[in-house]
Amino acid sequence: MPGPPRLIGSEIYRRSSYGGRHPLAIPRVSLMLDLVRALGWLPESAYIDAPRATPAELERFHDPAYIAAVQRAEADRRVDAEVSERYHIGRAGNPIYPEVFSRPATACGATLAAVELLLSGSDAPAVVHSPAGGTHHGRRDRAAGFCYFNDPVLGILRLLDRGLAQVLYVDLDAHHGDGVEDAFRDEPRVLTISIHERDRWPHSGTIDDQGPSWRNLPVPPGFNDSELAFLIGEAVVPLADSFAPEVVVIQSGADGLADDPMSKLALSNRALRQAVARLQALAPRLLVLGGGGYNPWAVARCWAGIWATVAGIEIPHRLPEAAERLLRAVEWRHSLARTPPERWFTTLADPPNDGPVRPEVRAVAAAALGAVKAAVLFPALEQQRA
Ligand SMILES: [Zn+2]
Repeated sequence: MPGPPRLIGSEIYRRSSYGGRHPLAIPRVSLMLDLVRALGWLPESAYIDAPRATPAELERFHDPAYIAAVQRAEADRRVDAEVSERYHIGRAGNPIYPEVFSRPATACGATLAAVELLLSGSDAPAVVHSPAGGTHHGRRDRAAGFCYFNDPVLGILRLLDRGLAQVLYVDLDAHHGDGVEDAFRDEPRVLTISIHERDRWPHSGTIDDQGPSWRNLPVPPGFNDSELAFLIGEAVVPLADSFAPEVVVIQSGADGLADDPMSKLALSNRALRQAVARLQALAPRLLVLGGGGYNPWAVARCWAGIWATVAGIEIPHRLPEAAERLLRAVEWRHSLARTPPERWFTTLADPPNDGPVRPEVRAVAAAALGAVKAAVLFPALEQQRA
């Protein structure tokens, strides 16, 4: 009998910021934690304070010289031009801020602790949620896309080191999960599947790029709830069924939501919750990570709803007063915050955004499944192509 789900967080996110007008200079994990507490959804026994990953733990994936450079950047609050150029610290969206080492190291510590919990014996939880995780762009020896270290890679490596032989990674962020895909391209024990907006940074993960250990599902602007449900049901689930994962790792970036300013995708948070629920059924163990998400209300409501989903908690139609007060107190310097819709304060669940499943989305599923299976599933489409 598995133990109850656990949520891993840290107070470091409350007092640390990327600073200035950086898209991540908004409350995310701290607001999500406050929200689930205000809703009474987080008994103290379910909450775990994340340890900080040690440099030795980070070295399982990252270059020791790079780790040392990030530590020095935190100590000195600056790097010289050569170090900046070499490791992409203090440039390209990866600023030097007071916790530039300890904050990402804590996100990695959370994900590693989550893995240990999942493998902790007969009363181990079946689900662990680590919303600070999901830094999927981090590279072995450089920062990329706001990510200094790559906690999904470290978590999956720890799963392999502990003897698991089939790990499925599903990336729902609006951006391609390039760092995780590249880390496991030659690793048959890991299958990575990324659903992301096409023609968006980092511009990898194209429809032509499918391999034995990786699948890419680049989707068009306007990607709706029905289309995500279609890709999960018609591509991800069949791929997972033939892979038979022992554990599923989900990167649940909230930047594909219609309310997010960074992407042109149009999902409701309901679509992401339903995707997580569907993926949860694929394996006996689930690790849910966070990811992108650049509208504080959208991120906190989405990830609180994902916690409710994995913990089996029903979401109320209207938020109780304490939760509403919390959301109304959030400040966000963005044009979208000038006329915020009331539902950002009074509800947790977005209205669904269902719509047609466009042929280009069907083609993405076909490409990810490979030609043989696609011909069976989509005969009409294959005839059109021929
Ligand atoms: Zn993203």
